Amino acid sequence: MKNLVKGELFRRIPKVDELLKHPSFLLLQKRYSRRHLIAAIREELDDLRERISDIPSTNVLMEWFQPESISREVEVALKQKRAYHFRRVINATGVVIHTNLGRSLLSSEAIEQIVRVAGSYTNLEYDVLKGKRGIRYSHVQALLRDITGAEDALVVNNNAGAVLIALNSLASGREVLVSRGEMIEIGGSFRIPDVMSWSGAILKEVGTTNKTHLFDYERAIGENTGMLLKVHTSNFRLIGFVDQVPGEEIARLAHQFGLPAMEDLGSGNLIDFKTMNLPPEPTVQNALKQGMDVVTFSGDKLLGGPQAGIILGKRVAISAIQKNPLNRALRIDKLTLAGLEATLKLYEDPAEALSRIPTLQMIAQPPDALKRKAVALKRRLARAAIPGFQFRVVTATSRVGGGALPEADIPTFCVAVTSEKMSETVLEERLRMATPPVIARLEERKVLLDVRTLLDQDAKDLVRIFSEIAHEK
Ligand SMILES: *Cc1c(COP(=O)(O)O)cnc(C)c1O
Repeated sequence: MKNLVKGELFRRIPKVDELLKHPSFLLLQKRYSRRHLIAAIREELDDLRERISDIPSTNVLMEWFQPESISREVEVALKQKRAYHFRRVINATGVVIHTNLGRSLLSSEAIEQIVRVAGSYTNLEYDVLKGKRGIRYSHVQALLRDITGAEDALVVNNNAGAVLIALNSLASGREVLVSRGEMIEIGGSFRIPDVMSWSGAILKEVGTTNKTHLFDYERAIGENTGMLLKVHTSNFRLIGFVDQVPGEEIARLAHQFGLPAMEDLGSGNLIDFKTMNLPPEPTVQNALKQGMDVVTFSGDKLLGGPQAGIILGKRVAISAIQKNPLNRALRIDKLTLAGLEATLKLYEDPAEALSRIPTLQMIAQPPDALKRKAVALKRRLARAAIPGFQFRVVTATSRVGGGALPEADIPTFCVAVTSEKMSETVLEERLRMATPPVIARLEERKVLLDVRTLLDQDAKDLVRIFSEIAHEK
C-alpha cells in the first residue's frame, strides 16, 4: 500500500457493526452466536491493528481491510475455539509410553468395553446374584489373582496413589527403610521422600547411592521400623561399582522381623521381555514369588491399559489397604475399570496380549516390519511429489519410555526429512502446528519420523500435512 501515515491506515480498519452487516459475515451469523462472533471480530481487528503498527506502512496489504478477508480469518479463529482442546496428535517420536502424549493406547477390546459401559447403567457396585450392594473392585480382583498368582488385589486411580495408600495403611508413623540407590524422582513430581511424608511414614535411608547390602537394612531395623520398601529405579540405571539387594532377600529379612516388604515396580509388566530380545524388566509375577507382601504398578505403562494403580499382595496387607478411608479419595473411575478389565482379560493368554495391546505390539515390532513400514511411508510421501522436501529411510534407536527398560535403545527405522526451503527447527514447528499436530524428533539437520509409534491412519495425514506445509507461503 502506498506510503500513508499510520493514523490513516488505522482509520481504514472497518468497524464491527459494518462487518456484521456485510454479506461475507452472513453465514458466520448463522453458525455462531452473536456474542462469540463479535468477540472473534474484535480479536481479529486488534490483531490487524498490531500488525499495522509493527511494520512500515508500505508493507501493509490492501486486502487486509476487506471484509471478505477478515471474515475468513474470523472463521478460522471461531473453528479453532469450537474444536476440542484435548485432541489427537501424531506421535512420531518413537517413544512408546510417552507420558506427555498420553502413555498407552488402549486395545480395541478395552475401547469397546469403555464405550459400552459409558452409555448404560452397570453392576458397578451391585451384586446381581444377591440383589444387593456389591464391590467395585470385584470386577478385576479374580482376574488379577488368576493372571499374577497374587493372593489378593486392589485397584486405585494411579500408581502414585497406590504407593501412597499402601504406605499410609501399613507404615504410618513408623520407619520405612529404602536404599539410597532407589531414592528416585520420576516425572510429574513423584519423589519417594515426598510420597513418604504425605503418607505419614518416616523415610529411613539405608546404604549408599551405588551400593546397598543386606546388612545395611538389617542394622537399620529398630523398634519403630514399619516396613522394608524396594523401588524400581524406573527412569535411570546405575552402572559400574553398584549393588542393590534382591527382592527375595529383602522380603526374607522383613519377615524374620515380622515386618511387611513392599515393592513399587513402577511400570509393572506381566510379560517376560527376554523372549523378545529386549533387556530383562522385572515382572509382577516374579516380585510376588520373591515374597513381597505388597507390589504396586501402573495400569498405563507396560501393562498397556488405562491410567490406574494396581496393588497386589498378601490378603492381610490388601485388606488393610482396602479399609483405609483414603481409598475413597483414590477411587478408580468406572470407565477406567471397564478398560482395565478388558485389558487384563487379554493377559489370560500372553500371546493374545502381545498381539492385541498396542503398547506391547509397538515395543515388540521386529526390525524388518519397522523397515517395511518406513519404506512404505517414504514411498507414499515421495509419490505425492511434495516440492522442496527430501525423504529418506534411516536407522535410529527408540526408547520405550514410561520408566520402562531405562537403558534400552531399541533399533528402529525412521523417515528422515530435509528441506531446501526451511531449517529443521522451522519444519519441526510447522509439523507441530499442523492438524493433527505431528510430534517429531529433531536431529542435526533433519527431522525424524520414527515409524515405531505411527499408526496406520497417520500416513494419510502425514502426506496431506507435508503437502500443505510445502504450499504455504
Ligand atoms: C511411574 C511410576 C510411579 C507413578 O505411577 P503413576 O501411575 O504415574 O502414578 C511410581 N513409581 C515408579 C517407580 C514409577 O515408575
